[in-house]
Amino acid sequence: MMIYPLEGKRIWLAGHGGMVGRALARQLQKEDATVLVRTRQELDLADYKATFEWIGDNKPDTVIVAAAQVSGIIGNQLYPADHLYNNLVVAMNIIHAAHQHKVEKLLYLGSSCIYPKFAEIPINEDSLLSGPLEPTNEGYAIAKITGLKLAELYRQQYGHDFISVMPTNMYGPGDNFDPETSHVIPGLIQRIHHAKINGADSITIWGTGTPMREMLHVDDGAEAMLHVLKNYSGKGHINIGSGVDWTILELAEAVCRTVGFEGKVECDKSKPDGTARKLMNSDKLRALRWAPKIGLEEGLRDAYDWYLREVWAGGTA
Ligand code: GDP
Repeated sequence: MMIYPLEGKRIWLAGHGGMVGRALARQLQKEDATVLVRTRQELDLADYKATFEWIGDNKPDTVIVAAAQVSGIIGNQLYPADHLYNNLVVAMNIIHAAHQHKVEKLLYLGSSCIYPKFAEIPINEDSLLSGPLEPTNEGYAIAKITGLKLAELYRQQYGHDFISVMPTNMYGPGDNFDPETSHVIPGLIQRIHHAKINGADSITIWGTGTPMREMLHVDDGAEAMLHVLKNYSGKGHINIGSGVDWTILELAEAVCRTVGFEGKVECDKSKPDGTARKLMNSDKLRALRWAPKIGLEEGLRDAYDWYLREVWAGGTA
C-alpha cells in the first residue's frame, strides 16, 4: 500500500528549471497535488532567511530538493569549489528551513558519484564512505554526501520524514548541451550532430572510451523518484538506476546511429576518464516495485529530438 499519497499535497519543487526538475514537474502533473515553484530571481536558495520565509509563507507539505549545480567531468574539474559551495549551501538552507518549519516529508536528490572510486560493482547503498572519492568530482560529491547525511541525521535526531535518492547518470530532454560543462550523452549528441552537418570523417570522444556508465532516461528517473517519495520512509538512501551500463565507446556508437553519422570514432586520451565503472545496485528500488521503461535507443532518440528542436533550431549550439 502507498504510504505517502501526494493527493492534496502542496509540493515545493526546488530546482524546477533543470533537466531533472523539469522531468519531475512533468511527472507531478499526473498527481492531484499543488506544485509550488520559484525562479532563481524570485528566491535565492543561498539566502537562508529568504528560504526560511518562503517555506513559512507558502507552507509546503512536501519539499523536493532538485536544485543543484551539475556538470560533466571537465566542468567539475574546472569549478570544484563552486560545485562544493553551491550544492552545500542549497542543501543546508533547504533542509534546515524544512526542519524548522516541520515539513511533513522531504526528498533530497544526490548522485551516484557520492560513492568511492573503487566501490564494489554493482554499488550498494552501504558502500557510502568506505573509500576515497573520484578526484574529478570530489567537490560535488562531498556536497551531495553532506546533503544526504543532513537529511538522514535530521531524521534520526528529530524524527522528520526526510529521505534521499541517489540517481545514476541521467540524460534526456532539458539536458545541458554546453560543450564544456555537459555530461557525456549531450556532449556526444552535440559533437556528432555538428560532425554530420559539417560532413566530417570522424568525431573525437574524451578519454579512452573504455569507462562504463549506467544510463537512465530522465523521465524514468523522475518517475522513480516520485515512486520512492510515495512508497518509502526509512533511514537509508535509495539508489535509482537502470541496471545496465555501456562503455563510452558503445554509447558514442549508439549516438552515431541515432544521429545518422557514419564516420569514425577516435579517442582523445589527453582528456580524463574519471571512474572506470559505477553501475549501481538498485535492488532496494526494485523491491519497492519500480523498474525503468525507456530503453537506450528510444531514450537517445528522444534526447536528440529535443536537442534538434530546442537547441539546434534556436541557433544556440
Ligand atoms: P562522469 O560520469 O561524472 O565521469 O561524467 P561525464 O558524463 O562527463 O563523463 C563520463 C565519461 O565519458 C568520462 O569517461 C568522459 O571522459 C567520457 N566522455 C567522452 N566524450 C565525452 C564528452 O564529449 N563529454 C563528456 N562530458 N564526457 C565524455
